Amino acid sequence: KEPVHIVGGGLAGSEAAWQISRAGVPVVLHEMRPSRKTDAHHTDSLAELVCSNSFRSDDVMNNAVGLLHEEMRRCNSLVLAMGDRHKLPAGGALAVDRHGFSEDVTTALEAEPLVEIDRSEVPGLPPEEWGSVIVATGPLTSDALAEGIRGLSDEEALAFFDAIAPIVYKESIDFSKAWFQSRYDKGDGQDYINCPLNKDEYERFINALLEGEKTAFKEWEKDTPYFEACLPIEVMAERGPETLRYGPMKPVGLHDPNRNETPYAVVQLRQDNALGTLYNIVGFQTKLKYGVQTEIFRMIPGLEQAEFARLGGLHRNTFINSPRLLDATLRHRKAPYLRFAGQITGVEGYVESAAIGLLAGRFAAAEKLGTDIVPPPRSTALGGLLAHITGDAEAETFQPMNINFGLLPPAPAAENGKKLKKRDRKPAMAARALKDLDTWLENTRAAAE
Ligand code: FAD
Repeated sequence: KEPVHIVGGGLAGSEAAWQISRAGVPVVLHEMRPSRKTDAHHTDSLAELVCSNSFRSDDVMNNAVGLLHEEMRRCNSLVLAMGDRHKLPAGGALAVDRHGFSEDVTTALEAEPLVEIDRSEVPGLPPEEWGSVIVATGPLTSDALAEGIRGLSDEEALAFFDAIAPIVYKESIDFSKAWFQSRYDKGDGQDYINCPLNKDEYERFINALLEGEKTAFKEWEKDTPYFEACLPIEVMAERGPETLRYGPMKPVGLHDPNRNETPYAVVQLRQDNALGTLYNIVGFQTKLKYGVQTEIFRMIPGLEQAEFARLGGLHRNTFINSPRLLDATLRHRKAPYLRFAGQITGVEGYVESAAIGLLAGRFAAAEKLGTDIVPPPRSTALGGLLAHITGDAEAETFQPMNINFGLLPPAPAAENGKKLKKRDRKPAMAARALKDLDTWLENTRAAAE
């Protein structure tokens, strides 16, 4: 068989290579290190962890990333197997010995008879003659390849930094204070959730933004551009106390039905996924520290109890507008010989990047083997994450995303038909996910045989 080519031997590329070779299909894995370095990697190893050594929570039944771990284990993930082998004591988190982890991923792939590792840069768009390619070059994709990807799409479809606004679970918003309304009742009149602030509340909020501790850019991130259209809120606040009230917090065209008045300032939230479970705070990209963000955003009336699916950020990154560019099996619509995987698809984090690598690998292998490609069910963490980047997310406002329960359909009802108690919802969603994943795995196995 002709091999699948994978560009990038990071978290996603390594996992994809493993999945493909285990399915009996040959792979060539192209990794540019050590001949060409990145600003964040320090070693020659595959799947290097560039910063923290944590795969985050390993609580399978109560945490979405813990559930994703378990699903990946059941899919014979190399990244999870090596993560488990090199686990360090870290409470409920899966933290790993970074050197042991990456060295063992490298050794495992070097020992695979169907994997060939080519240590060189792919200096541009991979040629179509390669037949089947997975691009998994991550947030620090080399310039020449990024240029090639940009040429394939339009300019706006490839971003070189992210500007992430926080995302809130809708069910945690207090609707005795917040209300649905679009500015001037445009659209269907109900597109936004609005949270009102009076003069006092607004001034306290601005002061908190100015005083809150910010994260610094890394040395090589210093050139990250601030576009006027997406300045961090704290930078806007620094320009003057009224700037936000004339920007994202302007109250015009809105009427607060609870207080029966035009508010002094408003925070607007816009639907972020097709399921309607997640809402992003419009225009609130920020470099405030995570703990500070939670504290300050809970000062907003209606968000006192807000639960955040994602907090805001601004980093050097490289990612494509996947909801617009990719089909349901991660193929580029304009060049279907190319699949994309990892952080470049707009997922965020080691585990999520490896998860999309796992799926891209399985899809590419199935294609070579001539078996049907069936994506995992929407009710699983793998399926929810995949559906988000390949269609559920709003293309217009697409920004990198971590796995969270808001990407899965709401919890099933209790046996008596009533809504489950809050503490029982996540375990019920996790149990449903694992059951549906097992069925999917069985069907996939049967189809391959
Ligand atoms: P990578 O793991 O970066 O792998 C991409 C690989 O492609 C690299 O090995 C690179 O050398 C190679 N490559 C690039 N271009 C080419 C080319 N043209 N030809 C051949 N090879 C090429 N996530 C977390 O969960 N926790 C963190 O603490 C964390 N910290 C981060 C810190 C920084 C500075 C950055 C940039 C990101 C961080 N992330 C973190 C986000 C992200 O999860 C990781 O970057 C993750 O490694 C992404 O996996 P990936 O496989 O998509 O990319």
